[in-house]
Amino acid sequence: MASDPSSTHSLPPALPPALPWNARILTLFPAMFPGLLGQSLAGKALEKGLWSLDVHDIRDHAHDRHRTVDDTPFGGGPGMVMRPDVVAAAITAAASGMAEGTAMIYFSPRGRRLDQALVRELAAGPGAVMVCGRYEGLDERVIDQAGLMEVSIGDYVLSGGEMAALVLMDAVIRLLPGVMGNAQAHAEDSFEEGLLEHPLYTQPREWNGMAVPDILTSGNHEAIRQWRQAKAEAITRARRPDLWAAWQARQKSK
Ligand code: SAM
Repeated sequence: MASDPSSTHSLPPALPPALPWNARILTLFPAMFPGLLGQSLAGKALEKGLWSLDVHDIRDHAHDRHRTVDDTPFGGGPGMVMRPDVVAAAITAAASGMAEGTAMIYFSPRGRRLDQALVRELAAGPGAVMVCGRYEGLDERVIDQAGLMEVSIGDYVLSGGEMAALVLMDAVIRLLPGVMGNAQAHAEDSFEEGLLEHPLYTQPREWNGMAVPDILTSGNHEAIRQWRQAKAEAITRARRPDLWAAWQARQKSK
């Protein structure tokens, strides 16, 4: 996982892709975007054109004067369901002219759990159309007809898909070419190699009676790499037995 820090200078400069990664959001709350992603790394990348954002108001596709987007569930039960005709019309409009290979996503607690592998997959593609649910969620027929991939950001229930979209986009954007100053930085992040990250230290060398481990100031890059690898393995084994088992299985099959 950790690589020789002395080799980072030899990485080729990251070139922006021909077309920026394109996020197309379908939401009932367009003012929530870019939201947090208008700041910091993602915000600067948006300004530089390293990714692009189109936000579509699902309500623009309602066909009554009250701009109704939901109705009661067939079969009874609490809450409201987003109408398939309205959402399908919004998807058709939002997906128009999108590049081949664009991911079609509906955020849902039932979906595939977002992880770094899926983030990398999405970052390697041209972009994503992302439907943010509200109320009890979407009518099943529109999920099927549009072939939406359901994606969950964790085993808890949010009030809408907008936060999930922001989380997914933040994770993708930092992987896009040219977004992070040091392209090597995310190669050493947690999950990139299947392990959690080793502990990090910076100045001051002594703080509140605690010293930085000597090895990190030794200048011995190979010893530092081995120390970090051992720490990453120990932390993963202690905190995430699921990741540890998968990592061990991969090592055995190498
Ligand atoms: N009735 C749904 C259920 O039990 O699975 C929950 C609906 S939730 C109140 C409204 C919307 O928030 C969902 O349609 C989805 O778009 C979004 N959402 C909620 N939790 C989510 C999660 N963990 N991951 C991704 N999206 C989520």
